[in-house]
Amino acid sequence: MYLNIDYGKCEGCGGCAEAFPEFFEMRDGKAWVINPEKFVLGENRGVMTICPYYAISVE
Ligand code: SF4
Repeated sequence: MYLNIDYGKCEGCGGCAEAFPEFFEMRDGKAWVINPEKFVLGENRGVMTICPYYAISVE
């Protein structure tokens, strides 16, 4: 299970990095997944709804 960012949808708003700095950071105006090994969906369900552009998914 890992976090995926659809760069066709990411608008670079920074909301995910602000809300979950342990999992996302901004690079060149787009979100970037960091610490993927620490992500556990059951403990971080907010990640699924934080992006207003539906760019974040869990696969
Ligand atoms: S919240 Fe969505 S649109 Fe905003 S930076 Fe993160 S992935 Fe991109």
